[in-house]
Amino acid sequence: MRLAIQEAEKAAAAGEVPVGAVLVYQDKVIASAHNLVERERDASLHAEMICLKEGSRVLGNWRLLDASLYCTLEPCAMCAGGMLLARVGVLVWGAPDLRHGAHGSWVNLLDQPHPIHRMEVRTGILKEECAELMRQFFRKRREENLSAELI
Ligand SMILES: [Zn+2]
Repeated sequence: MRLAIQEAEKAAAAGEVPVGAVLVYQDKVIASAHNLVERERDASLHAEMICLKEGSRVLGNWRLLDASLYCTLEPCAMCAGGMLLARVGVLVWGAPDLRHGAHGSWVNLLDQPHPIHRMEVRTGILKEECAELMRQFFRKRREENLSAELI
């Protein structure tokens, strides 16, 4: 999760919403990413989706059964769906996402029994650090919007 936080910090420095993710397979990091939505102008480029794609490429297999995905933020519906489709073994997420979270904050896709795949989910790991990154980012963005209005 520390590595995922480092990725989230890179996102913040680049003006992206500070979310980071790391994919681990057999105790090795096989993918790490942060959001690239703004840079690529692509709403699907969440850190988690990039990790799933990269992990599948590295393993040569779209099934990520024995992989663990660490994310700084509760995944959205797109990413949670992607994780289930990729059959990720374990998901660990940090801070809740009250607007888009798909593990109970907005909707809950991950506690429903799935007919094909059951993903183990652990939550609240380094929650405060993960949440603080988001708070700082949105505080700064509000201040910038406010100062832009004053010009
Ligand atoms: Zn997402």
